[in-house]
Amino acid sequence: MHQVTLAGLTVDTRHYIGGQRVASDDTFESVSPIDGQVLAHVARGGSAEVDQAVAAARAAFPGWRDLGAEGRREILHRLADLVERDLEGLANLETLDNGSLLRSHRRGVMPRVAMNIRFFADWAMNKLDHPVWQTRGHDNVVTWDPSGVAVIITPWNAPLMLATWRIGPALAAGDTVVLKPAEWTPLTASVFADLCERAGMPAGVFNVVQGYGTEAGAALVAHPGVARIAFTGSVPTAKAIMRSAADNLTPVSFELGGKSPFIVTDDADLDLAVDIAIEQYDNAGQVCLSGTRLLVHENIADAFAKRFAERAAQIVQGDPRDEATQIGPQIHRVHLDRVTGFVERARAEGAQVAFGGGPNDELGGLYFRPTLIADAKPGSEILTAEVFGPVLAMQTFASDDDAVELANNTEFGLAAVVVCGDRERAERLTKNLVAGTIWVNCFFVRDLAAPFGGSKKSGIGREGGTWSFDFYADVKNTVYAP
Ligand code: NAD
Repeated sequence: MHQVTLAGLTVDTRHYIGGQRVASDDTFESVSPIDGQVLAHVARGGSAEVDQAVAAARAAFPGWRDLGAEGRREILHRLADLVERDLEGLANLETLDNGSLLRSHRRGVMPRVAMNIRFFADWAMNKLDHPVWQTRGHDNVVTWDPSGVAVIITPWNAPLMLATWRIGPALAAGDTVVLKPAEWTPLTASVFADLCERAGMPAGVFNVVQGYGTEAGAALVAHPGVARIAFTGSVPTAKAIMRSAADNLTPVSFELGGKSPFIVTDDADLDLAVDIAIEQYDNAGQVCLSGTRLLVHENIADAFAKRFAERAAQIVQGDPRDEATQIGPQIHRVHLDRVTGFVERARAEGAQVAFGGGPNDELGGLYFRPTLIADAKPGSEILTAEVFGPVLAMQTFASDDDAVELANNTEFGLAAVVVCGDRERAERLTKNLVAGTIWVNCFFVRDLAAPFGGSKKSGIGREGGTWSFDFYADVKNTVYAP
């Protein structure tokens, strides 16, 4: 009753607390966005389960801390091996649960899950150098000490990848973890808990509490026994979390939304610009980093728009399990309606829908057609709010200074893309852009050693490499007299 078999994997629908499966009185449905099938009835946790999970994680902390980076690395490597062994099942399960492309899960996302674990386990062993420098003959010795229980709260657009991007460094740093996955995509986290157990992770080191953000999530971030809160999600939720965290002064790391600019200069390689622009529809537009504002130099705007429309017309939309599919469904009916609402309001305000513009009637279900909006009013909602669907808006600019001004005219600062024919010109542009990550003539090249995060309302803090450990650990300086 508490287990379902999906994609060849046994999925336990209960919480995972202190190494045990724990049920709740209530459940919620996990529904596949592919066809509306109810996949599972998942335990709906609240403050009682949260108290239990934080207590278990606190009890497990001294043992995990004292294992040291080397002992933890051994277990984390075994865990990464198990992820790789179950990669096909995990990829299929994630596709069923969140509707993203199966081939992406197989080739990119699930390998990255294993990498998230392995990379930070190795980094804790080899790359956290302990700088020693002298002050009037005294040695300053810096260490990254485990800090306690890290709460990790994640969204639905890349569930296990985004969860392990936080879990990997938190566990490697010696913290214990309580994860609350998004309620629209709870399933792979549960399988991951089984893998932790099989890897030999001591009970209570990794815990999963399932449930709604306003119930389990809210109880977790208000808990006084928590040392760190790592949250990936939307700005309104981040504000609520920060208010709760303030009561306990719990440090937060926030990775939030974006409305990233995609600048195409008049000397850009147009084919390259169009290729990269098409990628902004990846994951049906449900990507925080997407360059959703196409800012194109006026000299090439017509040529770009024509080629872009031709290419967009060839995008294959359909079942995310088909190899040929490029864009799958939106995650949920509520989200599809939200995306539709943005486009309808833009239209009502006089913007032009160059192509797309609504749900895909041929496919039915939750499919929204790749869409381009043109001639939107400066400052209008479609140019300023995060849609989080396959909806791009195009504007033109006359000079590089204009491009920078348009690009920075947003409350977000997560990423930017620049397609430009000249390196020095690109450097002048990027110098003035406000964003955590900028890609020049490329997109989505990610190195786990590099800092990642958002400026302005796109986040607080940076993770990646030592930046991750600066957050999850207590950084300590000890001064030794000569
Ligand atoms: P969301 O903020 O609605 O939910 C995210 C998580 O927070 C879910 O697990 C939810 O249950 C939980 N939550 C909701 N209310 C809560 C509360 N009061 N207290 C504690 N937890 C609560 O976001 P979403 O719709 O799931 O995800 C989409 C958003 O995530 C977009 O804005 C997207 O840009 C952003 N995102 C950012 C990044 C990044 O790396 N910067 C990556 C992926 C997604």
